[in-house]
Amino acid sequence: MGDPRSTYLDHGATTPLRAEVADAMAEARSEPLGNPTGSHRPAQRARRLLEEARDEVAAHLGRDPSEIVFTSGGTESANLAVFGTLGLAVRERRPAGVVSSAAEHPAVRESCRAAAREPWVAWREIPVDASGLVDPDELGGLVDAQTVLVAVMLANNETGVVQPLDRVVAAVRARSDTARVFTDAVQAASFLCLAEHAAGADLVALSAHKVGGPVGVGVLAVRPPTELAAQHYGGGQERDRRSGTQDVVGAVGLATALRLAAADRVEAVRRVAALRDRLAEGLGRSVEGLHRTVPPGVDVLPGHLHLCLRGIEREELLVALSEHGVCASGGSSCASGALEVSYVLEAMGVPADLARGAVRFTLGTETTGADVDRALAVVPEVVASLRRTA
Ligand code: PLP
Repeated sequence: MGDPRSTYLDHGATTPLRAEVADAMAEARSEPLGNPTGSHRPAQRARRLLEEARDEVAAHLGRDPSEIVFTSGGTESANLAVFGTLGLAVRERRPAGVVSSAAEHPAVRESCRAAAREPWVAWREIPVDASGLVDPDELGGLVDAQTVLVAVMLANNETGVVQPLDRVVAAVRARSDTARVFTDAVQAASFLCLAEHAAGADLVALSAHKVGGPVGVGVLAVRPPTELAAQHYGGGQERDRRSGTQDVVGAVGLATALRLAAADRVEAVRRVAALRDRLAEGLGRSVEGLHRTVPPGVDVLPGHLHLCLRGIEREELLVALSEHGVCASGGSSCASGALEVSYVLEAMGVPADLARGAVRFTLGTETTGADVDRALAVVPEVVASLRRTA
């Protein structure tokens, strides 16, 4: 990204802004834009662009435009889903339960933890197995009359593992008419058809910068009869669900990015998965002590390759790779302590000594064969040199 010599394999952290998205945003800015709530021409123009973006995002998700709440990104969408659904119970001081998977992104997990500081809220985490998957039947067993929200992400940010969301939704519905299902689809949006994969969820979170759009804009889709307690008070924008002047240009960027992702999805999935598999096979042959974190046969996003390298410290590896022009990450882009072992890997039962050498390569739609060649040349050399100096 930017540096032509760098091989960017960290799309799970953020994706480059697609050129067509930048063009659409520039076009939106090319004439005066007012506040969408106003009455004059620039305001009307802003309102029109915002509502067109809303229609497009809604169509992409297979939902009604009235369900779409624009936010500042995935983190805010997750907070709004958790606090918004639990908020009504908390205000009325009635017991409320939230169940989430042990592999949720911190945006969800920390929201649940914070919500559970209220004495009325009980939070339970459902474990994941060695593949990173929840067991829908086990999850259903945790749902009771007080459960307000069940949060299971569509695809994990670290491993790329895709959860059996349909079965999760069915298990929740079998136990409760009132519990809502929230899915964090932030990582999944580039490669999965959300109208299909997230169809059963009551609430869906998206973030533009993970799908070739700009940083700082996202969506929470909220399907009736789900009720949300607003977390921002103000002018009552977004049907009173999220006050604050909307980022019209950002919304245009998000809608364009989703359109582009949908336009070549089938081809992109095939191409990116083939590149990822070539990288995995090549590294498997050339790097000793390499452990593929997700067992074969598990449904994983096409761009994700999560590895654990025995005897390697993650941060040292990432810095050395970067010095050789390869950008990867240790897993979560939000990990607070660089040396902490990922709680997702811990939940999957990955031993701590292996998890310390965790590295995540995430390929994107613009990744090329040359990027993979470069990584195949650099990674084995860097790992061998780190082992020599250890
Ligand atoms: N959820 C998942 C699965 C993510 O990967 C991320 C970003 O890393 C987020 C939520 C937060 O999104 P944002 O960076 O837009 O706040």
